Parts: sequence; C-alpha cells; structure tokens
Amino acid sequence: RDLFGKQRQNSAGLNLADPLQLQSLQQELEMLAQHRWQAAPLINGQAQSGVKYVSYSPANRKTRLGEVTMADHSAIQAALDSAAAAYGEWRLCPVKKRALYLQQAAELLENHHMELASLCIREGGRSVKDALNEVREAVDFCRYYAAIAEDTFGQPILLPGPAGEQNRLLHYGRGVFACISPWNFPIAIFVGQISAALAAGNTVIAKPAQQTSLTAMFCIQLLHQAGIPTQVLQFLPGEGATIGKILLSDPRIAGVAFTGSTATANLINRQLSSLPAIVALIAETGGQNVMIADSSAHCEQLVQDAIVSAFNSAGQRCSALRVLYLQQDIADKVIAMLTGAMKQLVIGDPNDYAVDIGPVIDQQAVDRLEKHVRARREDAEVLYQINLPACCAAGSFFPPTLIELTSLNQLEEEIFGPILHVIRYREGELQQVIEGVNRCGYGLTLGIQSRIQQTIDRIHRQVKVGNVYVNRNMIGAVVGVQPFGGMGLSGTGPKAGGPSYLQRFSVEQTLTVNS
Ligand code: GLU
Repeated sequence: RDLFGKQRQNSAGLNLADPLQLQSLQQELEMLAQHRWQAAPLINGQAQSGVKYVSYSPANRKTRLGEVTMADHSAIQAALDSAAAAYGEWRLCPVKKRALYLQQAAELLENHHMELASLCIREGGRSVKDALNEVREAVDFCRYYAAIAEDTFGQPILLPGPAGEQNRLLHYGRGVFACISPWNFPIAIFVGQISAALAAGNTVIAKPAQQTSLTAMFCIQLLHQAGIPTQVLQFLPGEGATIGKILLSDPRIAGVAFTGSTATANLINRQLSSLPAIVALIAETGGQNVMIADSSAHCEQLVQDAIVSAFNSAGQRCSALRVLYLQQDIADKVIAMLTGAMKQLVIGDPNDYAVDIGPVIDQQAVDRLEKHVRARREDAEVLYQINLPACCAAGSFFPPTLIELTSLNQLEEEIFGPILHVIRYREGELQQVIEGVNRCGYGLTLGIQSRIQQTIDRIHRQVKVGNVYVNRNMIGAVVGVQPFGGMGLSGTGPKAGGPSYLQRFSVEQTLTVNS
C-alpha cells in the first residue's frame, strides 16, 4: 500500500531463473542485434532532417547501430513553438486522461521490453539484467506518476474558510518542461522525467544524452503510440551544449528536469538565472558515495554488497559505491575477500547474459578513469585491478580496480566508473568519518554495515545523505519503495519515484469564491 492507502504493484519483469524465458530472451536479442535504428528530432511527431552521425556500440567500436540526426536551430525553435502552443489545452486535460496515457505507455513499454533492452545493451553498454531492470523501472515510473497525479491533482483540495466563502487549491502544470537526461539510464531516467512532467500537466521537450539517442527515440515513439499527443511531447536529439544554449535561454521554458553532473546542473542554473522568471530546476546530480563497515559487520554480506554497489553497471550509477570505510580490525580480511570476489567478475560483451560488467560509455570515460588510477599510483596504493579479457580490446572497457586511500580528500570529483576505494579507520574515529562524509558536500547514497544499532542510528542521523542503506547494497532504488535523490552537491530534490516529486513539476492556484 502506498502513502494514499492504495494497493499498487510494481512491474514483475521476466523470470530469468526460468530457462525457457532465458533462452527466448537470448534468441530475441540475437535477432534484434541485426536491426539498424534511426533517431531524429520529432516535431509534432514529424522526423526532421539535418546533420547526421553514426552511432557505434561502446562494446565494439566497429558495431554500427544506426544513425542519429541532430536537432538544429530551426528544430529547437519549432519544438518550443509547438510545445508552448500545446500547453494551453494540455494543462486543462483532465488528470484522469493524462494518467490513462501513461498507463497505456507503461503497457507498451512492457510489451516492447526486448527491443528496449536490446537497444540499451548495445547502445548504452548495459548488462542484460540491468537493461531489463531499466525497462521495469520505466514502466513503474509511468504507473506510479499516473497514480500520484490522480491522487494529488485529480480533485481540487477543499480548504476551510468563513461562511459563504469556498476555498479550493488547484494544481496545474508549469508550462513547457525541458527534460534533459543522462546516458547511464537511457530508458528509466529518460521516461521517468518525461512521465512526471506530463503527469503534472506540462508539455515536454525531451533532450536525451547524445550517446543513447537511439534508445530514447524508440521510447518516444512508444509514448506517442500510447496516445500522448505529439504536440505535447517534442524530441530533440543532438549536441547538449548547442541545444541547451538555445532551449534554456528561451523565456517559454517553465521548468527543467536534469540528471547528470553537478557541474552541468550549475551551468544550467546559471543559464536559467538570466531568464526573467524564476524557472524551476529539478536536478539529480553526482555522488561521492560511501559505505561504512565497522568490526561487527557480517563480512560475507559486506563484500557481496560492496562488489554489487561498486561494480554493477561498470560503476556508472550516481548511486554507486565509491569509498568503503573499513574499521581497522576487519580491513585486511575484507580487502582479501574483495580481491577474491573481484576475480570472479565476468567482464565482456554485455549481450552475453553471463557477463556482469560491460563497457564504460566511451573512450573519454576510459581516459578519465585511467588518469585517475595513474594519479593514485603516486599518492595512494592500487591494490588490485582485473586483467581485461581479449574481447574487450574492441570496445571502451575499464577493468574493475581496488585502490586504498588514506583520506577522502584524495578524491576531488566524482569517479564515474568501476573503481572502488577503501579507507581504514580506527575505533574511536567514527565521528571523523561521518564529518568527512558531510564535508565532501555530496549527499546521495550511503551504506552502513554494522550489527550495532547505536552505530547505525548514530551514522544515519548525522549524515546529510538522501538514500541510506543498512546491511544491504546501495543501488537500484525501487520506484515508490526507495524514492531516490540526494542533497547538497548531489541535487535539489524532490526524490524521483517518491510521493512529492510531482509537486515540483506543478504550480498551485488558490480559488476563493464568495457566494
Ligand atoms: N536510481 C539509480 C539507483 O538507485 C541511480 C540513478 C542514477 O545513476 O542516476 O541505482
């Protein structure tokens, strides 16, 4: 039951323990691998022409996936014109109808999970399990926001007042919302932002990450097919800086949902500040996420959770574990166990169901991660790095790496890849650890591994972090179960997949009638 007391169920997804389902998944993925995809700006549902580029798979630089047409100045203007014109009618569209479109979208996404997963694996380098989970999450977002919109905006909220006066609180969409999404969740976050903005009554201009435009295009086609009017949902693939510059300096933009780096969120914020109105920005940004394990931790559990949290999705999650604090008495043992567990990780072509870790998104990411490890060879200790198998030479792979640091200060920016750092702390230094975590300024996820309730309470009460996970892994927040989002350098809130998310996408009107 959710906050409103309603029964709600998330999507079940595939049962991959069933060999038949697994086999048919593999066969379909093989067939879909032959398909060539296209993406182009969609203005009122019409594909626009323009400069094109070829999209290749990060797992293999020679694998051509399809072509992307980039939005030019006229496409951006047309998207703004149409989305602004469509807002008048859409804001008055009954919430029930908006919710119905999203429910239909959820069903279509679910029915097309094979194509979506195939795209996401090949274009985004996601593992098979990650890709299927993403489809499920997107489906859940659509259904969840549809339900929340109906519950919170479906009826005017009646307010008290003196005799003869009727007071009501009404909600409307803000206007044209720019939804700017990242490549690391090309389906879930892309659809999540759009479905929230639409549910609240906004028209949307969706700007996908350049690296995953083909996946985004297919999602948009399904959303249009679900009945969401093409004028209400415009699509602009292309170069982020070029599109952002034009889009976000237009006074018709009423709100922005952004997921990506803290630096880009700040840039967007500065750009919006030159507009006459104060434009709502909902930003979900990076993390410098920590797990704290004391000597009472269950070591097998801790190692399993740390490995999943740090290396799943090649560490390319905002929620991923970056720094594991180990109390001195268990540190040697846990480091040896971590190294052993890392040796079991299967890294390679993500189309193969047995693969745990696929590529990172592109060669630039590899270069950045290599630079980080090179620098840490000077001021820290690289404890272990997996040898990449030969198949990885064809793509942008980075080997899972374990580094021991002496201080959190050795990490300046978010390390967005499969690198886990450990830091030892002594009994009596827990307070310093907590203060260090707060001082770094990020506040997205945090793990606690301890069997001492006072320690758990002491940590979670003090840390300025959005999602705290105790004695489990710290990734894979579930819609409506672990609303996701941080504070400080990690974002503005409110939390995606949570009951208050839609409020930020809407404006309120009080209607007072004297009768
Ligand atoms: N919601 C995702 C998780 O809990 C992370 C989203 C992100 O990386 O932006 O793992």
